[in-house]
Amino acid sequence: MHSESPKITIALDGFAACGKSTLARDLCTALNYSFIDTGAMYRAVTYCLLQKEMDLTGDQPWGRILQDLPLAWKIADGQFRIALEGLDIEDKIRSMAVSSRVSEVAAISGVRTFLVRQQQLLGRAGGVVLDGRDIGTVVFPDAELKIFVTADTEVRVQRRFSELQMKGVDIPIEEVRNNLAHRDHIDSTREDSPLQAAPDAVWLDTTRMDRKRQLGIALAAAQSLLEKKGESPSRSTVVP
Ligand code: C5P
Repeated sequence: MHSESPKITIALDGFAACGKSTLARDLCTALNYSFIDTGAMYRAVTYCLLQKEMDLTGDQPWGRILQDLPLAWKIADGQFRIALEGLDIEDKIRSMAVSSRVSEVAAISGVRTFLVRQQQLLGRAGGVVLDGRDIGTVVFPDAELKIFVTADTEVRVQRRFSELQMKGVDIPIEEVRNNLAHRDHIDSTREDSPLQAAPDAVWLDTTRMDRKRQLGIALAAAQSLLEKKGESPSRSTVVP
């Protein structure tokens, strides 16, 4: 059924393990929007390139190489899905092997050009929440709502460590700490689209904030924008 409700684009940017993807999913549920996990796209490409033992240095025809990868991403029932030759690769792209190389791959301009275009195509109709590093600055600089999510480093390390433990991944916390520091450094110092807050982003420090409160703040900002667009927001936009 065609909905006449106004839709906005929401960009969530920030360092690794700040809680962006949880907030993105919660916002999507509340607003009936679709989630686009751009980090998962960089991870999926990294996984494929590592599998193919590709040389990650030097000039390569990245557009063609990436076009030929048997990867597919789509939004189905509001869920963001990535498949490799039709198979789910969620666990594989979250492995430490991928986490330790993904920022290197994401610093390659040819890779970024390809993925940014894909992200723009996926989100062009609006009604989407994208989480990443360059959404508000490069992918959707005109997004109506931009949130820059932050949290103290040690809180981020603990959160990611617990997440991995819950998934049964047994690695020392020091390795998690080093990986976050390594990625943050590359992500914020690379030449092409370094991680930075868009000048018009709202900052959200999640260090001492539970999930419900984060959603309440983000949803209030979204609702006020939707109201300005002239109509009441879509279903179930109730601040908990
Ligand atoms: O979001 P997540 O931590 O899974 O992202 C993995 C990596 O992908 C980041 O550390 C970063 O190197 C890269 N990335 C990026 N731009 C995005 C999203 C992710 O460079 N929009």
